[in-house]
Amino acid sequence: MNRLDGKVCVVTGAASGIGLRIAEVYAQAGGRVVIADLRQDAAEAAAASIRDAGGEAMAVAMDVTDERQVIDGVAKAVAAWGKVDVLVANAGIQIVNRITDFSYADWKKLLAIHLDGSFLTTRECLRDMEKRREGGAIIYMGSVHSHLASKLKAPYVTAKHGLLGLARTVAKEGAEYGVRANVICPGFVRTPLVEKQIPEQAREFGISEDEVVKNIMLKDTVDGEFTTVDDVANVALMLAAFETNALTGQSITVSHGWFMQ
Ligand code: NAD
Repeated sequence: MNRLDGKVCVVTGAASGIGLRIAEVYAQAGGRVVIADLRQDAAEAAAASIRDAGGEAMAVAMDVTDERQVIDGVAKAVAAWGKVDVLVANAGIQIVNRITDFSYADWKKLLAIHLDGSFLTTRECLRDMEKRREGGAIIYMGSVHSHLASKLKAPYVTAKHGLLGLARTVAKEGAEYGVRANVICPGFVRTPLVEKQIPEQAREFGISEDEVVKNIMLKDTVDGEFTTVDDVANVALMLAAFETNALTGQSITVSHGWFMQ
């Protein structure tokens, strides 16, 4: 259990934060990791550091909202390693604002990265998985915001809820090919994405940064603790390595009890 020997794993947004840790943990478990990220230099650096640590990794420059780049990026992985076994659709951003102040451009940008990106990467990887009929795992990076709402996060909450629908549909269409689809729903993890939000929310709500962390971000956890990249990566490993369709179409929340399913 929990080995990925020889499995080709495409992880989007893997140059930073949660995606980077998933890529490292997959490589330690024997996976061949494709670091797919908008930021080519950072993706190359992440792949090089995994190789330095003895793992197998390649970088692919990919804006997940660009159909051509997704098609070419997945094709590059298949050309190098012959297949895709695991996709982690993880690339994401956050933009916080009141609905009445949200620009249409920001709304569309956020939905495109989270939803269009997940669709495009799913389509390309699933095409390969269905063709080979050797099964596969597709994992979406949802959020506690796949289940709950928070002020200032309308497009993010909308997108993260949407990923549940995509995963459930992929679970049904992929089943006959042994492809499982699940969503991981983390609570707050201290990555660049969250570090940026702390001062933004302090400004919006007129409170201190400490209060944002204590009274907003971690308020409803059972112990006032942040979730870590390791917590999320370990769940991502379990989902990638799980061998049967028994575990599909689910969301697994990793949030120190913030949301309990
Ligand atoms: P991060 O900012 O550390 O990393 C995000 C990565 O995505 C970056 O490397 C960035 O270059 C890449 N990216 C952004 N737009 C892209 C695009 N169009 N195409 C390809 N790559 C792109 O963020 P993170 O906190 O590690 O977040 C990763 C995922 O986890 C996101 O989907 C996020 O919504 C989700 N998430 C994060 C938290 C948290 O608290 N950090 C909680 C729940 C869910």
